[in-house]
Amino acid sequence: MKSQTWEKRHWLRVLGPVLIVSGMLVGCDSDTGSAQQEGQALQGPAGQGDQLEVVEGQATDPVMAMRSENSLQATIQEQDGRSVVTNPEAVTVIVNKQRSLPDGYEPKDLVEPNVKFSFDGANEKRFMRKEAAEALEKLFARAESEDIELRAVSGYRSYARQKVIFANNVRTKGEKEASRVSSVPGNSEHQTGLSIDVSSPSVDNTLEQSFGETTEGKWLAEHAPEYGFVIRYPEGAEDKTGYIYEPWHIRYVGTDVAPDLANSKLTVEEYFDNAFIKL
Ligand SMILES: [Zn+2]
Repeated sequence: MKSQTWEKRHWLRVLGPVLIVSGMLVGCDSDTGSAQQEGQALQGPAGQGDQLEVVEGQATDPVMAMRSENSLQATIQEQDGRSVVTNPEAVTVIVNKQRSLPDGYEPKDLVEPNVKFSFDGANEKRFMRKEAAEALEKLFARAESEDIELRAVSGYRSYARQKVIFANNVRTKGEKEASRVSSVPGNSEHQTGLSIDVSSPSVDNTLEQSFGETTEGKWLAEHAPEYGFVIRYPEGAEDKTGYIYEPWHIRYVGTDVAPDLANSKLTVEEYFDNAFIKL
């Protein structure tokens, strides 16, 4: 479980912005309608539901409340025989073999992070959603300051490109193996713009499990959570995540969640499963 110190620091961080928001509400007595302004003030991006909980005076742990709001069970709907996520824009969205993105989903805030890539030239693989891209820049800068050489290999992947990748894998590896190592279009986490594959010149920038044994791979696993990322497909969790161990695939879930998730030793699927969330 979390330490007292962590808890205290976290609450201070959460309460700071809340006090500002509360102040704004109290000061809002103009005739433009405070309800509308309240709505605007409280509508933060996904992941800030914790602040809402505190404003309402509930003594719930904000991270627990956020987990509950974004749980597997709370964020899915059946559509034409598929299970489609209801929160594709949330940094906590969970996409996997059982949960697909809505048809034609494309993030609106894709940008290119200013980091070293393993390849030259323009490519959609260079993009990530803005918040994740900024976090990646900080992660890579920290690595560089510690003489750890990382390279970004593959970030955003559109539905169209995933279609080509999956078809290639089926052709060369067969349907069963193809779905172990790649996703059917609409079910790839890369399509969210929140994931990126990272490697190092020490393994020729390849995406191999041996990367996890390198100095760089170990450094990445240790420090990624400080910047809001987790190793999405941990070793020995194929039955839970649906994917083999991928020490190179990091996923942005936000700086509130990532350290807690990493400490919990749960997979993303378990962390956001109501069976594991105790309110
Ligand atoms: Zn990946």
